[in-house]
Amino acid sequence: MLSVTIVASFMSQRYHVQQTLIKSVERNIDGIEIENGLLDIERDFAYTNDGVYSIVFNKNGKIISGEYPDGVEKIDLSFDSGNVRKYKSGSVNYFVYDTLLKFNKFEYRIDSKTGEILSSEAEFSPTATDFQGDLDTKAKDSTLSLRDAFRLVLKETGLNENEVHLVTAQIHDYHYNNTVYEIEYLTDKSIYDDVWIRGVSASGSESNEWNAIVIVAVIFLPIFILMSSVIGTSIAKRAYKPIENLSLSVSRINTGDDLSERVTVEDSDPVLRQLEENCNLMLERLQQSFESEKQFTSDASHELRTPVTVILAECDYQLGRNDLDDESREALSDIREKALAMKELIQQLLYFARMEQGKALFDFAPNDLTELTDAVAGDIASIAQNSEKHIKIHTDLEKGIIFNMDAGLMARLIENLISNAVRYGNPDGNVWVKLSKDRNVITLSVKDDGIGISKEDAPKIWQRFYRADKARGSGDGCQGLGLPMVKQIAEMHGGHVTLESEEGKGSEFKVIFDVKE
Ligand code: ADP
Repeated sequence: MLSVTIVASFMSQRYHVQQTLIKSVERNIDGIEIENGLLDIERDFAYTNDGVYSIVFNKNGKIISGEYPDGVEKIDLSFDSGNVRKYKSGSVNYFVYDTLLKFNKFEYRIDSKTGEILSSEAEFSPTATDFQGDLDTKAKDSTLSLRDAFRLVLKETGLNENEVHLVTAQIHDYHYNNTVYEIEYLTDKSIYDDVWIRGVSASGSESNEWNAIVIVAVIFLPIFILMSSVIGTSIAKRAYKPIENLSLSVSRINTGDDLSERVTVEDSDPVLRQLEENCNLMLERLQQSFESEKQFTSDASHELRTPVTVILAECDYQLGRNDLDDESREALSDIREKALAMKELIQQLLYFARMEQGKALFDFAPNDLTELTDAVAGDIASIAQNSEKHIKIHTDLEKGIIFNMDAGLMARLIENLISNAVRYGNPDGNVWVKLSKDRNVITLSVKDDGIGISKEDAPKIWQRFYRADKARGSGDGCQGLGLPMVKQIAEMHGGHVTLESEEGKGSEFKVIFDVKE
């Protein structure tokens, strides 16, 4: 802005110099006339005025009067009326303005009695009025009429009546002398040689102009660019603020579990308001479909629980019969096994459904986590040790770690991790269960030297129903729900889970709780 102002003031200053030059020269036109046949430069002709030097030239370009500014010897510019031109002398730039002065208006005074021409003047006149009076008028005691006087004057200058335009013909009674006739006319005929008035004024030195440009370019332009970019950025920031708010709201909803949150743009722009409304509509529908999916899972699980229990009870009853043939027994055992897996699946889905309804349905209280871990690990250890794989479970549990938890949920978490470690362990392998507390952080680690998890599978195993090891059927109790449940239980207790694993070497799952004292 500043640089624009400087350039603008620089230009307006130039304009001002040129206007002064033109005015000074044109004002001087009135200061030159021909008096009784001789060129007369009057006293009010200003040779220097407002920095303008005025010089009078004859029609051949010779100086009649006036001089160039100091330091200028001559100006090699041909005369050109009415245009400001630039001229450089040394390191100084000048403006030059010429005007051609024609002597087109003549004024004569004639003795009304004798017809003697008393005086004559010629000057430049841009305009002419028409003669209005009566040429036949005579002064008192005169023999000559105004018309006679006019003819005398024309004869004197060698002009015809049709070569002139009469402006004035009047009688002047001066009392002390004879009455005088005054005749004024205009003519295009050249009676006297034209003269030129040339005005010269300094427009400022070249180096000053250059300096000004350099100052603008080097100092003010970068400042201007910087200021524009700062202002531009702040305007853009302000304009993007509502979008930023929207994006923050969306990412908050994304990272949190609360789909009932809504976005706000905090702006009155109708387009943004429409965007806000559409986003919230979308969230509304999303929330509804999640809710109904949750409801469906919960309802379906509840509905399936009774028939599965009946199937199991019927299987047990039939299997207890002594008269059953081998084929039927095998078929019934098969059904029972599948029904058991189904029961487990229903159980887990109901757990999820309950957990999604929040903490209120559970019994959170300070419990001994060490004891719970020990008990769960002990239960699995005896099964694992006696199974075909002979997996050994080693425990390293810090004593007396009390934690505010739902013991049922926490037992499931520990059981899921240890049983996975056993399930995906190698024959004669090991599982290490470690529980420790360091200041406000409780860490439960379940480590194995089993098959490990590939890098591709590692992020996916937390999704419901994802099973990296597809070879195993759901009949093994593998539903792909164990780890998602571990994650959800950990989060319900304010914790999080981590995994370090290498395919073929083993895995370590850690559950980390922050304890607020
Ligand atoms: P699943 O019922 O199939 O065990 P989980 O959710 O408990 O379901 O585990 C998901 C998948 O993660 C499993 O199918 C298995 O491929 C892999 N996984 C879980 N724990 C381990 C482990 N300790 N070692 C190797 N792979 C494991």
